[in-house]
Amino acid sequence: MDSCLFCKIIAGQIPSDKVYEDDRCYAFRDINPQAPVHILIVPKTHVADVAECTEKDSALAGHVLKVASELAKREGLTNGFRLVTNAGADACQSVKHFHVHLLGGRKMSEKMD
Ligand code: AMP
Repeated sequence: MDSCLFCKIIAGQIPSDKVYEDDRCYAFRDINPQAPVHILIVPKTHVADVAECTEKDSALAGHVLKVASELAKREGLTNGFRLVTNAGADACQSVKHFHVHLLGGRKMSEKMD
């Protein structure tokens, strides 16, 4: 999608601190990290958010989670980590391209918001 920030990052039109890429997804460090490790795992196919995922996207969504878990291992997050995906206005989703945040390297708040 031409106007999508993450599509532009995936296409290399906007620089990113890439940590992983395969044929289906792309992962890079968040520009405004909320934890010592804060990585965004983004499917290469443009889907606005998890609520827009249909049955045909389920394997892709599963792959994104698997990559997130692999990256947690690679980043040494042996004490745990948090995966977050925001969907829509109430969740304050700011980039309308489905992505999962991998957060770790510190004790997370028990409050989820
Ligand atoms: P969300 O609010 O869930 O849509 O998350 C979007 C995330 O993208 C935020 O955590 C931003 O800090 C992050 N972000 C925005 N622009 C960039 C960028 N150019 N490079 C890396 N991360 C970005």
